[in-house]
Amino acid sequence: MEQPIGARTLGGETQSAKIELFDVAPRAFNNDAIPQVPQTGPHFSDILTEHKLALRHAKPEELQINLGKLCNLACHHCHVDAGPKRTEIMTWATMEKILAWAKAAKITQVDLTGGAPELNPHFREFCTALLEMGVQITSRCNITVMYEAGQETLAEWYATNKIRLVCSLPCYTEDNVDAQRGKGVFDKSIAGLQQLNALGYGLDPELPLDLVYNPVGAFLPPEQEGLEKDYREMLSQEFGIRFSQLLAITNIPINRFAHALERDGELDGYQQLLVDNFNPQTVDGLMCRTQLNLDWEGRVFDCDFNQMLNIPLGGVDEQRYLWELDVDSVANTNIATNRHCFGCTAGAGSSCGGKLT
Ligand code: SF4
Ligand code: SF4
Repeated sequence: MEQPIGARTLGGETQSAKIELFDVAPRAFNNDAIPQVPQTGPHFSDILTEHKLALRHAKPEELQINLGKLCNLACHHCHVDAGPKRTEIMTWATMEKILAWAKAAKITQVDLTGGAPELNPHFREFCTALLEMGVQITSRCNITVMYEAGQETLAEWYATNKIRLVCSLPCYTEDNVDAQRGKGVFDKSIAGLQQLNALGYGLDPELPLDLVYNPVGAFLPPEQEGLEKDYREMLSQEFGIRFSQLLAITNIPINRFAHALERDGELDGYQQLLVDNFNPQTVDGLMCRTQLNLDWEGRVFDCDFNQMLNIPLGGVDEQRYLWELDVDSVANTNIATNRHCFGCTAGAGSSCGGKLT
């Protein structure tokens, strides 16, 4: 197998913090007993305190909605533990409640994820309702879903509705992609990207096509701009593929990825790598500050990772549904943190939108 892209670590130097200091120390969600989270090294909240930083919500601008855990793939790095046998799927009744709340809260952006969000039977109806409200939609598409039964018109439908696509392609080589995502995934991904290009995706500014890179192992992503240049050259030369931008994302050590690291004796070392590369300049831009995250039942969380760990919004005891939440009560409230949060603040930082600094 070829050397995976980015198989190197970043320097462990702490960059000087020039961001705004928040005024209150954070209240961490103190549950070291969560089995899926690394148990070694400092707690994230202690490092924030050391840097005189606190992590709090701003007014929510975006909802990230998990439409279910059903997926046509079962990737090694998947923090959702999604797969073809999962049955958790958002119902239309739940979608209607979310639509009503989003309208009242004047939400302007929605990020749809899963599993494969397209496999939810109400996916297109839900998107149409959001578009009618003037909401901008991003869909996290694994590309190969376009070749599933019943999805033959998906690419055209996406283009007609001008939905922004964010597509995972963890490498530009077949070996590495198939190793992480399953045999044959690379070829299908290339064919799918070519089909999307033919519809204008990645070329027409109204049809953004972003690719997502994440490391194929226990290391941090390399510098995003340099990697984007490599992707452009390789995908253009080899396959004639164009895309809008590359988002480099750090793997968060929870669930399936954490188990794989533990099995290989790499979990503690990877956690230490994240801690050593803590970058205080990433904190202000963390996605949990401006996003609210929903699971397939409409329950609300600080972020997708906390959802997977069942840590309720703000680390409070009771779990709330979105429609039980007053949007005006969110700003300035606590965000629940634990050791996995170092994955978002290492090096250039990481979010669903790629690097943070
Ligand atoms: S395509 Fe995405 S949701 Fe599906 S298994 Fe892979 S990482 Fe998980
Ligand atoms: S995992 Fe990342 S996005 Fe989630 S609460 Fe921690 S820092 Fe925020």
